[in-house]
Amino acid sequence: MNTIAIFPGSFDPIHRGHLSVLKRAVAIFPTVIWAIGVNISKIPMFSLEDRLEMMKSVNSFPNVEIVSFSGLLADYAVEREATHIIRSLRSATDFDYENQIEQVNERLAPGIETIYFPAKHQYAHLSSSMVRELLKYQKILPGSLPVEVETQLQIRANT
Ligand code: ADP
Repeated sequence: MNTIAIFPGSFDPIHRGHLSVLKRAVAIFPTVIWAIGVNISKIPMFSLEDRLEMMKSVNSFPNVEIVSFSGLLADYAVEREATHIIRSLRSATDFDYENQIEQVNERLAPGIETIYFPAKHQYAHLSSSMVRELLKYQKILPGSLPVEVETQLQIRANT
């Protein structure tokens, strides 16, 4: 069976925790769709174009397709004939939230299996919201961002 996994999120911006999940997903799935879900009720810090650019700059895997979609994840996953949805868990709080979403997705898109990757302990403290909060004060937590993203942010800050 040809498995296709979709790894959705806001990725506003991407950090090393996201990348660690992507790396593990590409080692398992022949095709990974790394997808920004455009959420109309969230105002992002980084434009969709900037986030796609960041993702492209860090991706070195030939089996990853970088895309964005609007609307429901379940609908997009069916449209793309995905077999799996990749999410990650940092904590029990994440589990409670993700489990609810998984149950809804299972009803909307029966048969598409959600797979959880546990966050690596060195990245479990990272979240995009924390990265954004620090960026408001021109701070980047050492080791939190892929080098390519850090460079892009520094160039932007100096222009
Ligand atoms: P969303 O807005 O959908 O939660 P995010 O961009 O915050 O999207 O996260 C996308 C995915 O990456 C989610 O599955 C989330 O659990 C996972 N993730 C977020 N932070 C980390 C981290 N520090 N380590 C591993 N996975 C993470």
